[in-house]
Amino acid sequence: MGSLTSPKVIKNIIERHGFKFSKSLGQNFLIDSNIVEKIIEGANISEEDNILEIGPGIGTLTKELVTKAGKVVAVEIDRGLLPILNETLGSPSNLTIVQGDILKLDIKRLVKDYFEGQDFKVVANLPYYITTPIIMRFLEEDLPFTALTVMVQKELAQRMAASPNSKEYGSLSVAVQYYTQPQLVCKVPSTVFMPRPKVDSLVITLNRLDHSPAEVKDEKLFFSIVRAAFAKRRKTLLNNLVAENLGDWDKAEITKILEEVGIDPQIRGESLGIKEYALIANRMGIRS
Ligand code: SAM
Repeated sequence: MGSLTSPKVIKNIIERHGFKFSKSLGQNFLIDSNIVEKIIEGANISEEDNILEIGPGIGTLTKELVTKAGKVVAVEIDRGLLPILNETLGSPSNLTIVQGDILKLDIKRLVKDYFEGQDFKVVANLPYYITTPIIMRFLEEDLPFTALTVMVQKELAQRMAASPNSKEYGSLSVAVQYYTQPQLVCKVPSTVFMPRPKVDSLVITLNRLDHSPAEVKDEKLFFSIVRAAFAKRRKTLLNNLVAENLGDWDKAEITKILEEVGIDPQIRGESLGIKEYALIANRMGIRS
């Protein structure tokens, strides 16, 4: 078998297995070995690492991962890819392929069963249609991951890494940066996929933080304030917080709270960093 990034090799394999690309499953396979290398480098993998790969496809990244990591578990939703993975990867002792939907699988159980509950890293060329829910699941579910190295749509990576006062900055930036430190790895043009998607991509590593950048007493309230603050980007912070009806506060009370924590009610949500949102949430939390 030739290289798994060769379009000729891919065509041959998928034809022999009668496999058809599914657009709805976000199946765009990598056909560039340099990008594969950059993803592997960006993930900074050592022999001790446990790796969870999401969506191995025909095994292009997986093949490299098994040579670098201690253990690899790859979760693939499409049963039609299992015989292909069997052919392309064989059965290395450090690899387990799990058929399932990463949004529905019990990941805690999986980590316990395969990684003995130890830390792990996620590496994935993610299916575009569910990138945000997958990332949010890892961030919010208290899973022992140390880093996520993922290929995502360019605009999404920019939003995750954005700083306050930029047009990309929003509630996703706050959520991602509350848990991790994003680091852009490389740009990826649409030409390196088969079939070619309409968008360009970026590889980004989200390094888990030991502590969030600010102490937050009630995370649920914190995130509902953040979401409310960005609900209508042209509205002021005050008007968004009032309109989104976060409990029983009226306009005068919210104005007072913002002034008490030293935040101008007339600014927009995009000017505030995580620390400022934490100040508002912790102050509002006294009465919620
Ligand atoms: N890793 C391969 C590569 O880089 O060439 C394939 C990447 S392709 C963009 C996304 C892969 O995720 C596909 O194999 C697709 O079947 C799989 N997938 C889509 N939805 C999934 C889900 N909910 N759970 C697990 N895998 C999924």
